[in-house]
Amino acid sequence: MNKFDYMERYGYEQMVYFYDKTTGLKGITCIHDTTLGPALGGTRLWNYQSEEDAALDCLRLARGMTYKNAAAGLNLGGGKTVLIGDADSIKSEAYFRALGRYVQSLNGRYITAEDVNTSCKDMEYVNMETQHVVGLEGRSGNPSPMTALGAFHGIRAALKYKFGTDDISKFSFAVQGAGQTGYYLINFLLEAKAKKIYFSEINTKHIERMNREHPEVEFVSPEDIYGLNVDVFAPCALGAVMNDNTIPQIKAKVVAGTANNVLADEDKHGLMLKDAGILYAPDFVINAGGVINVYHELKNYNRDEVIKAIEKIYDRLLDIFKISDKEGVHAQEAAKVFARQRIQTIKEVHSNYILK
Ligand code: NAD
Repeated sequence: MNKFDYMERYGYEQMVYFYDKTTGLKGITCIHDTTLGPALGGTRLWNYQSEEDAALDCLRLARGMTYKNAAAGLNLGGGKTVLIGDADSIKSEAYFRALGRYVQSLNGRYITAEDVNTSCKDMEYVNMETQHVVGLEGRSGNPSPMTALGAFHGIRAALKYKFGTDDISKFSFAVQGAGQTGYYLINFLLEAKAKKIYFSEINTKHIERMNREHPEVEFVSPEDIYGLNVDVFAPCALGAVMNDNTIPQIKAKVVAGTANNVLADEDKHGLMLKDAGILYAPDFVINAGGVINVYHELKNYNRDEVIKAIEKIYDRLLDIFKISDKEGVHAQEAAKVFARQRIQTIKEVHSNYILK
């Protein structure tokens, strides 16, 4: 891959490689677009097969953050850091402080947070070297209930658009995965008196927890979750679960949950869902509750304000569904149109000169 060609094609601003000789830290930070504000995106630690794989992952994830942050109404651009290494052996205070110094060297153009294989605790070490980090212990707290809350409002919006009512008590749900986010989503649906909820899981502890706390939520095997006769299928576990094999099984008229990268192939499966009359809530819009939550750490964190900001996912999705129908594009593409429109409009608003 020629990286400059790739950056030119997709409008990247910056790509930084760094190495720390004391700790063996090897990483890449990509800043995709900072039109709306500093680039925010987590730090992922992964044993990549090659530097090329790491670079491509970083570029792809950074661009995804631009869309996610823009569509969430945040004054943030998109960025990401990937670290190449074995999470079981490489982590230490020094390792994350070394990372903190590289984040600091970007002088606020990039703000980091936890991601796959990095935690709040690791970010405390990062924070010893830089202020440009969020998701710290004792600040915005566990993002998962907030992500689930956003998905709950997103599901309500999808029901409103598809059936003309967002009254959860009239509908039935199949939730795939009852982990960090699925568990909270099921709780929100129960509070709203959902007609019937099924769930699938592969972790025995999570199955037992649900059976113990909410025996009325019915367990089904992971293979059977797709074909259930329900109104909403809520993916809250893995990526790529909407694919050639699963879409023909879906009887639900709405697919909306917390999972990332739900569509195995964005264009192909986005269109397949649209053609089948299934309303799909774009993943990066409906699951933005967590990023909205950490964003508020950059202001004076106030839980009530965060909850209000997360509720806006409802209206945002309605706008996106309208774009999808008006422009004749699938919902995932409509969400990108929506995000690009916001970036372009704010860029134009900022084009006049004012004294700072
Ligand atoms: P998690 O690991 O806590 O939960 C996922 C659950 O799915 C686990 O309990 C796991 O056992 C179960 N699972 C795995 N394979 C399964 C299968 N084949 N069938 C049924 N269940 C299966 O993760 P999470 O934090 O809840 O995240 C779930 C999804 O939401 C991921 O795609 C994640 O990227 C996305 N997401 C999470 C957040 C957040 O705040 N946690 C934010 C944005 C997006």
